[in-house]
Amino acid sequence: MFESLQERLGSILNGLTGRGALSEADVSAALREVRRALLEADVALEVVRSFTGKVREKAVGAAVLKSIKPGQMVVKIVHDELVEMLGAEGVAIDLNAPAPVVIMMVGLQGSGKTTTSAKIAKRLNERQNKKVLMASLDTRRPAAQEQLRQLGEQVKVATLPIVEGQTPVDIARRAVQAAKLGGHDLVILDTAGRTHIDEPLMVEMADIKKVSSPHEILLVADSLTGQDAVNLAKSFDERVGITGLVLTRMDGDGRGGAALSMRAVTGKPIKLIGTGEKMDGLEEFHPKRIADRILG
Ligand code: GDP
Repeated sequence: MFESLQERLGSILNGLTGRGALSEADVSAALREVRRALLEADVALEVVRSFTGKVREKAVGAAVLKSIKPGQMVVKIVHDELVEMLGAEGVAIDLNAPAPVVIMMVGLQGSGKTTTSAKIAKRLNERQNKKVLMASLDTRRPAAQEQLRQLGEQVKVATLPIVEGQTPVDIARRAVQAAKLGGHDLVILDTAGRTHIDEPLMVEMADIKKVSSPHEILLVADSLTGQDAVNLAKSFDERVGITGLVLTRMDGDGRGGAALSMRAVTGKPIKLIGTGEKMDGLEEFHPKRIADRILG
């Protein structure tokens, strides 16, 4: 689809072989291409700026080795820096708290919260033998609670019985209570999303957090989110306080730059990635793979 960074840098830098060290001008020329590649991969502009700043520091004056081409060398510096910024791999969902452990799923409408809630429930049930209770707190979309109930049936995980007329906060309270009484190890709260971030949404999330004391608050975000990724992650983190990220639709064509944007602005780990509509389309996050994908 796009020219890879390696190809772009090859034509700019490879004449330098054997010339000693990368100069300021060589690096600037290379960084123009790096910037373009990152923007095409949907990394947010402010993250691209801070990222290229770091790469500049490492690349200027770096000795050009005889054995590798300068273009490859810059790609390696960029790749290593991407992996470092993307952070540790395989950070598991933290269940180390008294039962029932509450996991609160937050994010915009359509990001994949409900699907991901059921995928996580299935995974923790099957792999760690956890007794899970799921509850949909989306009272605005009539079909939302029913959607979670059906997914619960599909993955053989209990869902909180639907009671008409309750507020999201009422449902959150009831879910925690029901989990205590039912001896559940954990509760997954699937909160309502909206098409964009607004004040009422943030207030609702804060209220739900207050009554349910979640141990994990996972921001579910579509990996195809572009420049909005930074605002989205910042808002949820500042207003609600997230503990981790789940990037969905990593099975699509996107280059996944949102992963870097969100990780960079929140510093929170990417815990899982969604890789399909099916219930087993959930995988651990591997920073190297995402770095490769961003660089093409
Ligand atoms: P919510 O509004 O945030 O609860 O989003 P849903 O869970 O209802 O998901 C919206 C749509 O995205 C559904 O059609 C899901 O099947 C789909 N979806 C969710 N996660 C993934 C994923 O990782 N890959 C793909 N291809 N589709 C996904």
